[in-house]
Amino acid sequence: MKIVRIETFPVNVPIRPERAIKSAAGYHAHSPFLLLRVHTDEGLIGLGEVSCTPVWSGEDNVTAAHFIRTCLEPVLVGRDPTQIEALAELMRSRLALNPFTRAGVEMALWDILGKVAGLPLYRLWGGSVRESVPTKFSISGAPPAEAAKNAAWAVEQGFTAMKVKVGLNPDEDVARVRAVREAIGPKVRLGVDANGGWSPRTAVQTILRMEEFGIFFAEQPVAPLDVRWMADVRSKVHVPIMADESVATPQDAVMLAREGAADVFSVYVQKGGGLLAARKITAVAEAAGLTCTVGSNLELGVASAAMIHLAMASRGIGAEEFPCDIIGPFYYEADVLAEPLPIKASVAWIHEKPGLGVELDMVQVRRFARESF
Ligand SMILES: [Mg+2]
Repeated sequence: MKIVRIETFPVNVPIRPERAIKSAAGYHAHSPFLLLRVHTDEGLIGLGEVSCTPVWSGEDNVTAAHFIRTCLEPVLVGRDPTQIEALAELMRSRLALNPFTRAGVEMALWDILGKVAGLPLYRLWGGSVRESVPTKFSISGAPPAEAAKNAAWAVEQGFTAMKVKVGLNPDEDVARVRAVREAIGPKVRLGVDANGGWSPRTAVQTILRMEEFGIFFAEQPVAPLDVRWMADVRSKVHVPIMADESVATPQDAVMLAREGAADVFSVYVQKGGGLLAARKITAVAEAAGLTCTVGSNLELGVASAAMIHLAMASRGIGAEEFPCDIIGPFYYEADVLAEPLPIKASVAWIHEKPGLGVELDMVQVRRFARESF
């Protein structure tokens, strides 16, 4: 079997205004993503999604489509799509950085491999380690009253765990966490995500102030500039530290483990260039006695399916202890899938179909078709 072409569909999907995410990493109010199809000479088609935003990785659907057309498609055409380890390395050698772009194409190769094998991806990877994936909600860094209202809404939907964005202003961060805790009561599990917005000293002081609200983790308290910063914070607070912006590759994971800088890695299906890298990070965590959760860039259905397969198959992902951010459907008015994924508040699972197990609804893809600006 050979790859014959890669077809791309730029979309720009608005996020429900009341749930648009404000954080120390910027404002995420719409998603300039790229959907893609890798076509083969045998008629099998693999689906992929580049869930990119300029503020996260410096990519959008224009750069992704451009690099796929000019750098990736020319070297992939004529190759066997099931040689994923080799093709991921080939893509990396032709395109520096741009991890979400490479990951979107790699995702489609996995979809093809699953369809060739007749197996859902989680089965291809060795089968499930859990029957479903516990998930948590994410609350924007809005003013405290608004954040509390969103949190109460999430509890009404059935969420039993959530995180709130902080890292913007220490006093306001504490007030937001207090307001959210008061709104959700003592039983809902609550974490915080600073997106690297605090200095090391502010992080220690602010996390210590937040501990009275019963937070169960603090995500990326400091910028990913120096691994010692997070190790220093971790040594001075009493809650688990989760690395997100600090951990894109398996090498990052090794360094964080060696320096004692994190308890948990937030693994994405795209941050490190694809599912191969993501699965390697979960293996590093497992080997180092640490654990992972699955983090999110508000993926649409294609990449959400990849996240669920990853969480279903990975022992190194401790989703019961640190629920995953598989929550795209709660942020968008409509998705791009022909059949929606079984994602509910607090739990996600997957259709028992080969590959990613999803198909595009081209009416929705055309409805949201738009190049980023
Ligand atoms: Mg994060």
